[in-house]
Amino acid sequence: GRQFFVGGNWKCNGTTDDVKKIVSFLNGADVPSEDVVEVVVSPPFVFLGLVKSLLRSDFGVAAQNCWVRKGGAFTGEISAEMLVNLNIPWVILGHSERRLILNESDEFVSDKVAYALSLGLKVIACVGETLEQRESGSTMAIVSAQTKAIAEKVSNWDNIVLAYEPVWAIGTGKVATPAQAQEVHFELRKWLKENVGHEVAASVRIIYGGSVNGANCKELAVQPDVDGFLVGGASLKPEFIDIIKSAT
Ligand code: 13P
Repeated sequence: GRQFFVGGNWKCNGTTDDVKKIVSFLNGADVPSEDVVEVVVSPPFVFLGLVKSLLRSDFGVAAQNCWVRKGGAFTGEISAEMLVNLNIPWVILGHSERRLILNESDEFVSDKVAYALSLGLKVIACVGETLEQRESGSTMAIVSAQTKAIAEKVSNWDNIVLAYEPVWAIGTGKVATPAQAQEVHFELRKWLKENVGHEVAASVRIIYGGSVNGANCKELAVQPDVDGFLVGGASLKPEFIDIIKSAT
């Protein structure tokens, strides 16, 4: 079976004090063991070192982005090499906030994924449709195009977790129903089976993100193709622990 995965995307939130408070409730939590659930938290870049130094060793740390290629004269960017140097094992790439607000294209995201993987980073690669795209019936066309862009540049999927995050569910309190999430996860896995391979399709974890909270996580977690969550707002609060516990 696929190990359940729960990521906490802190986005652009928090002060040093907030970070210390979050780490302290995480460190004190009684959660299922690492072989049952993999937990990774993703603070803003400036807090990565602090979180890494304070956080329990069974939880991982992810950056929220990185530069597309080798570092250099790219003011304001953080390179994949720097993440490797700081022993940050994970990076979130292609989040819809970066695709839509920062205009990152499918191709740019896939270049980032391929470059980060080539340096040994593990990648949480995000895909998802907007409300308009869902209402026009193009959900699968959109998420498969986003996945295809990645598949064209990546041959080894061992270090990729695919996050399905419908844009209309992010930060809106409008969570996808378990049936809606399961349908897209099933179709994504089918796409992987037909276009990448049976083994990859069977082993890649496909996690759901968008208004996941302590109250709605359990019914999503039991869906056969939902292998975990990428949590935004609720990952800043103690209810994140309840979401981790939905693994069992
Ligand atoms: P919310 O959980 O705040 O809806 O955010 C989801 C998300 O974008 C995680 O990456």
